Amino acid sequence: MGDERKWVYGFEEVDDAETHVGGSWDGVRGLLGGKGANLAEMTRIGVPVPPGFTVTTEACNAYLEAGAQFPAEMWEQTLAALKQVEDKTGKAFGDASNPLLVSCRSGAKFSMPGMMDTVLNIGLNDEVVVGLVQLTGDERFAYDSYRRLLQMFGSVVLGLDGEPFEEVLSEYRKMRGVDNDAALPPEVLKEAVERFKNLAPGFPQEPVDQLRLATEAVFKSWNGKRAFDYRNAAHIRHDLGTAVNIQTMVFGNMGDDSATGVAMTRDATTGEDHIEGDFLINAQGEDVVAGTRPTKTMDDMAVEMPELYGQFREIAKNLERHYREMQDMEFTVERGKLWILQTRDGKRTAQAAVRIAVDLAEEGLITKETAVMKVTPDQVDFFLHPQFSVQAKKAAVESGSQIATGLNVSPGAAVGVVAFDADLAEKWAKDDGKRVIMVRLETKPDDVHGMLAAQGILTKLGGRTSHAALVARQFGKPAVVGIAALDIDMANRQMTVDGRVIKEGDWISIDGTVGEVFTGALATVVPDLSDPWLEKLLEWADEFRTLGVWANADYPIDAERARQNGAEGIGLCRTEHMFFEADRLPVVQKMITTKSDVERRKALDILLPLQREDFAGLFRAMDGYPVIIRLIDPPLHEFLPAFEDLTSELADLRVKAAAGQDVAGQLAETQEMLERVEALREANPMLGTRGVRLGIIMPDLTKMQVRAIMEAACAVANEGVDVHPEVMIPLTSHVNELRRQQTVVESEAKVVMEEQGIEIDYKFGTMIEIPRAALTAAEIAEYAQFFSFGTNDLTQTTFGISRDDAESGFLVDYLREGILPENPFASIDESGVGRLMQWAVQEGRATRPDLEIGICGEHGGDPKSIDLCHRLGIDYVSCSPFRVPIARLAAAHSAIVHR
Ligand code: ADP
Ligand code: MG
Ligand code: MG
Repeated sequence: MGDERKWVYGFEEVDDAETHVGGSWDGVRGLLGGKGANLAEMTRIGVPVPPGFTVTTEACNAYLEAGAQFPAEMWEQTLAALKQVEDKTGKAFGDASNPLLVSCRSGAKFSMPGMMDTVLNIGLNDEVVVGLVQLTGDERFAYDSYRRLLQMFGSVVLGLDGEPFEEVLSEYRKMRGVDNDAALPPEVLKEAVERFKNLAPGFPQEPVDQLRLATEAVFKSWNGKRAFDYRNAAHIRHDLGTAVNIQTMVFGNMGDDSATGVAMTRDATTGEDHIEGDFLINAQGEDVVAGTRPTKTMDDMAVEMPELYGQFREIAKNLERHYREMQDMEFTVERGKLWILQTRDGKRTAQAAVRIAVDLAEEGLITKETAVMKVTPDQVDFFLHPQFSVQAKKAAVESGSQIATGLNVSPGAAVGVVAFDADLAEKWAKDDGKRVIMVRLETKPDDVHGMLAAQGILTKLGGRTSHAALVARQFGKPAVVGIAALDIDMANRQMTVDGRVIKEGDWISIDGTVGEVFTGALATVVPDLSDPWLEKLLEWADEFRTLGVWANADYPIDAERARQNGAEGIGLCRTEHMFFEADRLPVVQKMITTKSDVERRKALDILLPLQREDFAGLFRAMDGYPVIIRLIDPPLHEFLPAFEDLTSELADLRVKAAAGQDVAGQLAETQEMLERVEALREANPMLGTRGVRLGIIMPDLTKMQVRAIMEAACAVANEGVDVHPEVMIPLTSHVNELRRQQTVVESEAKVVMEEQGIEIDYKFGTMIEIPRAALTAAEIAEYAQFFSFGTNDLTQTTFGISRDDAESGFLVDYLREGILPENPFASIDESGVGRLMQWAVQEGRATRPDLEIGICGEHGGDPKSIDLCHRLGIDYVSCSPFRVPIARLAAAHSAIVHR
């Protein structure tokens, strides 16, 4: 394209930008960055935005690729656009008698709060500042603006340390006995300007040079370390580049009829429809976010500047309607005139995301489908995160361990040891595996790595829109900010609240939901899902999804939780859990170790009523829904003491015997157990005598389990429960195994039903967790009425890797080196395991069209795997009761996306 390439778009040229990218809004955001695109869009719909223009992300990428060289024509176009702004405002850049000042603002496609750089008040110099004094009659304002330019230019463009500048100001504040910079008189600010110029000798007096250098600095900030780290954490691509927005300055620091602020159109913590934010009278933008002065709330603004608040409210509501989304806005009032400087979709907590999506749909701004798509499965997951238990909270309050309250800016409970800087927080968390709460005066973009590593965040300064609050909410970290009572003593690495000293490394607990801080480690619990908005959203999700969502549950209490969370069946009940209970284990061991059939039957007779009760509880909880019960699966040695333990016990006993103690009985018993354990020992137990193989060598065991299932089913059916048992055979690899077991199952079921005089509609089916079973699905389906993919074992056996060993061994290296693109135990390996599944679905249904097919591995709760299941057309996924809500939403997303 060469010379004809357009690198610069005026805010009023959004139509041209749209044409350039082929009409998509996403494309406009990509080209102009989110900030630039929204400034242009607001200009188009008549919101008061100070005039300006955007240098595109394409220009940034071209600049970075060329090794810090502006592409041809870019600078000429920039100066031409600046000329147009001069015409619009009637001011001139660099003209001391009527100066135009501009800001130079970064803005990438996705917002990265505070990650990149912005310079305000560009165009001031020694001469222009004098002109500004004459023009405004406000010396304080003029020199305040100039010292800010020097400070920002120094840090952003010249890369100078901010401390020396701050020290100068703090020295003056002390000298004058004032606590904020706005209260410094003009002569002091004048002096500060002189000292700042000495601190920043590279500062150019020529305005056009200032603009050029600032533009370059913004371009370069795209590749800065903190921006890079942030993109990694937020999964933002590194090749997008940032745009630069050059915009007429408006001034919130021109006196008491001027102000600046940041506000969200809805409460970003709870989602409530109430404007929430911070503002400051007589200040410039960054003062609010930096937390250097205590801010006022938007509710205060409603009282102190009612007319302007009303105007702001109206614009806010308009923007919400326009974008059909909650907005996060920046505004400035210059001598009674309101300007909007930024709008973007507001970041919010998971809780707020759900409520806002539902409310917007109910207000008619978006469809139910859009509402469902707006919430991510991860956000639903967040509802299940721990909270402090009521008892723990009560005890803490009573014992006086509550030490402070602050703003509840990001909900959830967090417990950890105090770390006072980001590097230490990261080190403790990563290298030492500690849980850490990062405590800072305030957070800055450089602290993000520590925030990510920490469990929670605590700051003394800052409001609801502070950096700490924004980042914490985005990454779901509990946070409490604005704890005025907190004193941090970095020299001694300790903090004091109300006279109480807490040292670095001490435990504290923070409750981001209500904004409370405690000493010590409070106990947490997982909450239930009784959020009315979440319930509604999930109901809507159910209307869209076509995939069933069942749960894996071994006990009635799990089944109840699963049902409350919306499960429509039990996809896996593992009966062996029932065998491990302390009072049953000795009987189970007897059953396994005895050589006598009579003894074995005796043991089974003891287990029968226990199992029956377990199953009856499950059936009652799942009234009306199917319950799949898997017959015993693990290798028998798992129920017996470990070989090594027995040998050492035996050695001990022998010593005792030699010392004359009477341990003969114990000795004989241990000896016998050891022999049985030795006989059952296998080199590869996971590929050994387990699953269906057990049922085949011990048909009595299968019989007992089937009897327990059917007796329970008959009993609860007589109570009026609608019961649908399904008997599942594990680890089948050959159809003959299934055929053999089916005879046992059917004859025993028949006997029980005859005894009880009632017919139960039950199913017989199998796990598909061995590749051979998947490959021969057509034959298997002749006997099985249902399949359930056991994707954990199917992954192990397809890859030929042992999960227990691999996940702490070579798999880690494989993932790091990219030999495997992702962990196949986290998301189903689509091209391998997924193909086997696809084949089994196809072949199985060819034999038996009404074959019921589901999955019961841990993948059943993983959104990516759920999407694969949706595409394979299986009937349901079964996952942990806690993940049922996540699966419901993920299944709805798949149904909507693949429609
Ligand atoms: P960030 O992405 O860090 O928020 P911004 O570019 O939005 O950076 O600017 C930082 C602060 O400066 C914000 O408070 C913003 O409102 C303010 N600001 C930016 N440009 C102007 C302007 N032209 N006039 C007045 N204030 C401005
Ligand atoms: Mg901003
Ligand atoms: Mg298995």
